[in-house]
Amino acid sequence: VLIPLLGLGLAVYFYSGPGNFNEEMLRGKRVIVTGASSGIGEQMAYHLARMGAHVLLTARTEAKLQKVVDKCLDLGAASARYVSGSMESTAFAEEVVKEAEITWGGLDMLILNHIGYSYFNFFNGDVDHVRKVMETNFLSYVAMTTSALPMLKESEGSIVVVSSVSGKVASPFTAPYSATKFALEGFFSSLRHEFIIENVNVSITLCILGYINTENAVRAVSHVIKVAPAPKEECALEIIRSGALRQRELHYPASTVTPAVLLRDFAPEFLDGLVRSNLQVENMKRA
Ligand code: NDP
Repeated sequence: VLIPLLGLGLAVYFYSGPGNFNEEMLRGKRVIVTGASSGIGEQMAYHLARMGAHVLLTARTEAKLQKVVDKCLDLGAASARYVSGSMESTAFAEEVVKEAEITWGGLDMLILNHIGYSYFNFFNGDVDHVRKVMETNFLSYVAMTTSALPMLKESEGSIVVVSSVSGKVASPFTAPYSATKFALEGFFSSLRHEFIIENVNVSITLCILGYINTENAVRAVSHVIKVAPAPKEECALEIIRSGALRQRELHYPASTVTPAVLLRDFAPEFLDGLVRSNLQVENMKRA
């Protein structure tokens, strides 16, 4: 009886639904979106543009960013620009924030969404690869947050961290990636405490995503994952909504993420079995 009740409570707590969200909340807001040249980040840029926000987009591929910026301007963005470069370097992460400061003189929302490439397969023992994805997926998030904090304190703004169910519940074939996502939860949850202790009115929203139909994700895992992916457009909107509402955590899609998060602490071995049974491991070949 307790588990379903708790499940219902947590689902309501984590996923507040349309609630009091109003797209006007984003009008004129200054928002950085990382990993905005494709996938969920690209879709977030389009939603924000439609809502009339100022967007600063970043990723490595300049040609793709230019196209996204053009479309954002067509959709009604208050302004749209990009900075291209790799988040393997914390210096670049800081440069992006500097660009916001020079252009806007402030910042309202920092959406940390990019990820570097990691293989989907048995862990191959390559420690340098783990270091590299830690730098791209985790350290650059820390560097951008650190640089952006003075502006976010000033605006009483929001930090939105895009994580994964792999940052809550481990599954096979994702060891380096999963490590970076678990690290995000530890770092940002500790920071949230400190903000409360020091009366810093900057919200931190951790977005726990299940399988989403972005081109890269589908290419990497569709031969192994049995469940159907959720739509990236809706996912992007839910992330913006949860950030604007200053929610602590988003689960999307809630129907698969919330039960997994709940079972993790109540029945970890049952959950591990469930995770493996949802994978066609026979299709996985060692690299
Ligand atoms: P995509 O692979 O579609 O997009 C990744 C983005 O990051 C691209 O814009 C890419 O652009 C950029 N990027 C890649 N490498 C670097 C780098 N070294 N430096 C800077 N930018 C880089 O990812 P998704 O949209 O699928 O995922 C977005 C977020 O959602 C991620 O945080 C991911 O972990 C999370 N998520 C996604 C799931 C899914 O099923 N799709 C499931 C769970 C979580 P470019 O190549 O031009 O640099």
